[in-house]
Amino acid sequence: MGTKIRLNLRFRGWRAKKEKSKRYLCPSVKTQPLITLHDKQFKPYLSEAQILAAVKKVAEEVARDYKDEVPIFVGVLNGAFMFVSDFLKHYPHPCEVSFVKLSSYQGLTSTGIVETLLDVPANIKGRSVIILEDIIDTGRTLQELVHLFSSTHVKDFKIASLFYKSELYNGEYTIDYFGMEIPDKFIVGYGLDYMELGRNLRAVYQLNQQQMINIVLFGKPGAGKGTQAGFLKEEYKLKHISTGDVFRYNIKNNTEMGKLAKSYIDKGELVPDSVTIKMLRDEVESNPDANGFIFDGFPRTTAQAKALDDLMASKDMQINATIALEADDEVLIERILERGKQSGRSDDQDEKSIRNRFGEYNEKTAPLREYYEAQGKFHVVNGIGAIPEITQRLHKVINSLQEA
Ligand code: AMP
Repeated sequence: MGTKIRLNLRFRGWRAKKEKSKRYLCPSVKTQPLITLHDKQFKPYLSEAQILAAVKKVAEEVARDYKDEVPIFVGVLNGAFMFVSDFLKHYPHPCEVSFVKLSSYQGLTSTGIVETLLDVPANIKGRSVIILEDIIDTGRTLQELVHLFSSTHVKDFKIASLFYKSELYNGEYTIDYFGMEIPDKFIVGYGLDYMELGRNLRAVYQLNQQQMINIVLFGKPGAGKGTQAGFLKEEYKLKHISTGDVFRYNIKNNTEMGKLAKSYIDKGELVPDSVTIKMLRDEVESNPDANGFIFDGFPRTTAQAKALDDLMASKDMQINATIALEADDEVLIERILERGKQSGRSDDQDEKSIRNRFGEYNEKTAPLREYYEAQGKFHVVNGIGAIPEITQRLHKVINSLQEA
């Protein structure tokens, strides 16, 4: 806990400096204050006027289709209460309104469990029902709604959502009406909450990812990336993503991805980029509340580095530093063979496979040095010595980022 507070202060100081320098370039920063809800900061994303324009658009579209009957609008609590209220103010024809209540979000991460807390309204048989949702993302809640109404014998069933995360949506049901498509950002305000706070805000705010720190640990197999990541994630409260560990987990659980990856890993070859990049994206997206990430074993190719930059940019995040742990090949081979005896990892027990991994590194991964040097983000750390000494060297680099 003590460490976390220290880190937050440290990085807040760093951010404050950056914000201060940005102020001279961009005076509008002053008029866009950050807000704090629980432990997170959020920055303005949509103004009240933008939201109301989107609400009006949906209301007008629905009105065109239902002007000759009296539809029942069913709001999905709690998030949709503001949307329902403003929608009805813009709906010009006779209509009824009711609510259902489901629960699926806890904190920033969807739990995947959808419960019905308030059931479908009575006497809707033969009527046109239009569901009013605040936001559609993965489509899990929507699937449950469709299921809830499937046995009600309504005349017509439609979905109208104020916000729609189309790139995240993977449901089968086509969204009938939506106010605005938005990227995959965690948002609060106008009915939407972060752990129940923020619903009363008139505007919509997005999670401020600028506070994050994201580090790539770079280096040949056996350089100590995994060991050091273990210490850094504790010190800086970061989420450690080791692509090698995720592959091994999948191999152990005999998943499709595991079966595919095994053939490459056993030979000491890289798993194809298409598989690895998708897996990495899923790992990042399933941790939206992380303070930042340590990427260990990713990227290993230029295509992966570009994909990582794109992923970061799409989430308003960035890689702050790439830190290379350097050590001599013969030292590394000795370390890996020793590690193989302890862990039983088959790719660590065969010198031919190890040398092949080094070959892959020299050919495909080493060029990334130039990629990150061109961005001014490449740092080298001597990976030979006692483990705590190496950890100290890494701390020095990470702490120096705040002065940058
Ligand atoms: P590691 O535990 O990082 O040494 O990774 C073990 C093995 O997993 C590697 O030799 C590759 O076969 C595979 N692997 C891990 N990360 C990646 C990646 N970013 N791209 C392709 N293959 C990877």
